[in-house]
Amino acid sequence: MKRFHAKFLRSATSEAQFPPAGAPEIAFLGRSNVGKSSLINALLGSRDARVSSTPGRTRAINFFALTDTPERQQPQIIFADLPGYGYAKLSKSVSAEWPKFIEPYLRDRPTLALCICLVDSTIAPKASDAQLFDFLEAAERSYRIVGTKADRLSGNGRSQALKALRAAYGEHVLLVSAKTGAGMKELWAEITSVG
Ligand code: GDP
Repeated sequence: MKRFHAKFLRSATSEAQFPPAGAPEIAFLGRSNVGKSSLINALLGSRDARVSSTPGRTRAINFFALTDTPERQQPQIIFADLPGYGYAKLSKSVSAEWPKFIEPYLRDRPTLALCICLVDSTIAPKASDAQLFDFLEAAERSYRIVGTKADRLSGNGRSQALKALRAAYGEHVLLVSAKTGAGMKELWAEITSVG
């Protein structure tokens, strides 16, 4: 598995603060508590680029630059950690409580190459997730659905969860665990295939 060096680029709370569009961007989306910070930290494996789910940072898009060597200045891939959603009731937009710059980011960002959409594999599929995937579909974005916390399921539970997620969202669902590393190699392969 190819290792990248990751460094925190910036937090953005408006379109004006997005970093210049350059390297292909991978966005991470999911309901609050889905395990997004844990997954990104496991992928980055870097002490220089810790993601935290503490308030403040969670209302922003946090950008991380990935390079194959620490010396390289230009990022080869950018990770965009999007705010968690799902506390408030959903409205016509993806989520009423989501900051206003999120939808324009998902719709218009020219370098957004892939959305990694996280769902908790230990709970039943949710309408609010399906609503987000419909939005991404309408925006003609590439997205992959990734079920988190797979280590909490037994072998049988895992196949049942996969079946339920595939029935709800389509065949292309991958189960991962930030804790055991299960599925991470496949996830990296998806990520680097766009980079
Ligand atoms: P976020 O709000 O989406 O950033 O979620 P966090 O990464 O903060 O995780 C939410 C909770 O789920 C925490 O208690 C984590 O320890 C737990 N968690 C996250 N990933 C995993 C995983 O792969 N396996 C298990 N067992 N727990 C996880």
